[in-house]
Amino acid sequence: MVTPGHQEIADVGVSAGQIVQFGGPMTGDEEFDAGGLLVLPGGIDAHVHLVCAALAEATKERGSIWVDDFWSGSLAAFAGGITTVGNMTFPLPGESMAAAVARDMAGAAAEAAVDWFLHPVLTELTERTETEIAALNADGHASIKVFLSDPRLMAATPGLAEAVTAAGRAGSLTLMHCEDAGILERTGQELIESGRGAIRHFPDSRPVGAEVAAIDLVVGLVRQTDAPVYIVHLSSAAALDLCRVARAEGLPVYVETRPLYLHLTKERFAEPDGAKYVGAPPLRSQADRDALWRGLAAGDIDTVCSDHAPWSLAAKLDPTLNVVTARQGVADLETLGPMLFSEGVAAGRITLDKFVELTSGNAARLFGLYPRKGAMTVGADADLVLWDPQQRKTIDGATMRSRSGYSVYDGWTVQGWPRSVIRRGQAVLRDGTDTARRGDGAWIRRPA
Ligand SMILES: [Zn+2]
Repeated sequence: MVTPGHQEIADVGVSAGQIVQFGGPMTGDEEFDAGGLLVLPGGIDAHVHLVCAALAEATKERGSIWVDDFWSGSLAAFAGGITTVGNMTFPLPGESMAAAVARDMAGAAAEAAVDWFLHPVLTELTERTETEIAALNADGHASIKVFLSDPRLMAATPGLAEAVTAAGRAGSLTLMHCEDAGILERTGQELIESGRGAIRHFPDSRPVGAEVAAIDLVVGLVRQTDAPVYIVHLSSAAALDLCRVARAEGLPVYVETRPLYLHLTKERFAEPDGAKYVGAPPLRSQADRDALWRGLAAGDIDTVCSDHAPWSLAAKLDPTLNVVTARQGVADLETLGPMLFSEGVAAGRITLDKFVELTSGNAARLFGLYPRKGAMTVGADADLVLWDPQQRKTIDGATMRSRSGYSVYDGWTVQGWPRSVIRRGQAVLRDGTDTARRGDGAWIRRPA
C-alpha cells in the first residue's frame, strides 16, 4: 500500500465503508488479492465538467453541451482509478449560484456512483455576491470558480477582489481560470480578420502572454488580500515561474495542471483533425511541457486534474468553428491516472509517492476532504485502487466509458492501470469490469 510519504506491505481491513485495520488477523465476507499490485488511495479529480439531466434539458435550445453525465462520468472515473470528483457548477443566465448548486446536487444524487463535491461558478458580481459565497460555504461548498477569460470578470473588474477576499474570509478557496479576456479578445479578432481564423491557428489565439498577464494580476490580488487562490490548468513555463516566486514569498497560491500539457504539444494542431486537441489554454511548446514535468517533481504544482469536458469527435471537428468559437475541452477522466503513471512513474519522471500526492493527497487537503479522503488511515473512507503497475494497454477512446467516443491519446500504449477499485468499501470496478450502481455516490460536505 502507498500513501504520501509511506509504503508498506500490509493487509487492509474494511468495514461499513471505512478502513478499520492494517495487518494482523482479520475476517470478512469478501477478499481482494492484491498480490503484485499497488494499493493506492482513491484518486481525487477536483476539476470535471459533468452534466446532470436537468442542465442538459435546460441548455438544449442553446446548442451542444458536454456529453458525459454523472453516471457515464462515474464509470470513466472508476476505470481510471478516481473515486471522488469536483464538478464545476454553472448558473444559467440570471440564475443564482445556490440554484445551480441545488440542481447539480439533485442530479448527482440520482446519477453519480462516484463521490462528488461542487465548485459553484461565479459568473456575475452583484451586491449579493459576498453573502452568497458565505452562505454556500456554510452549506459545505467551500470553493468558488472564476473565469478571468470572461470579459465580465477580468482581474481588474471592480468587485472581484472583494469577492475573492470574501471567499477567503469565509474559508473558501477561489479557483481561477487564468487567461486575460482583454488579450484573448484582441488576438482572436486579429487572427480572424487576417484570414487565419481556422482552428489550426488556435494556439496563437490564446498566447502564453494572456496566461501570464492574468496570473500576474492574481498574484497581486493574493498579495493584497491574502485570500487563497487555486490556479486551474496552468499550461506554461512562464506562468509556473510566476507562481513559484509567489509561493516562495509564502503567498497561498496553489497550482493545478492537466494531462494535455504534460503529454502533447502545439504541433498537434497541424494534424488534419487537430481541432480534437482544443482546450483553453491551448497546447504549448516542448519547453513548456518539460517545465511542467519538472514542476511536478519539484512540488511547484499541487495537483493534476483532468478538466474532463467531453465532446463527440464530430462536434470538435465541426468545420463551421473558428479559433474563437472552437469547442473547448476533452475527455480525460479514464486516462488521467494511467497516462500520469506511465509517462511519469514508469518513465522515471516522478516517484510513486509524488503520483499519489498529485492525484489524491494534495487535492484532499486543498479542498477540505482530508483525512476522510486522500489518505489510507483507520477511519478514512475505504476508497482503494488496486493498481497493476505492469499492465499495458493501448488507448482506444471508442471502447472507453466516456460518451466522447475518442481520446486525444488514441494509439498510445500505456503502462499501469487500475485492476479493481473500491469506493467506500464497495467494489465499483472488479478485474476491469464495471460493478458500480447508479446513485450510490455520496456528496462530500466540506468544512471551511
Ligand atoms: Zn474546466
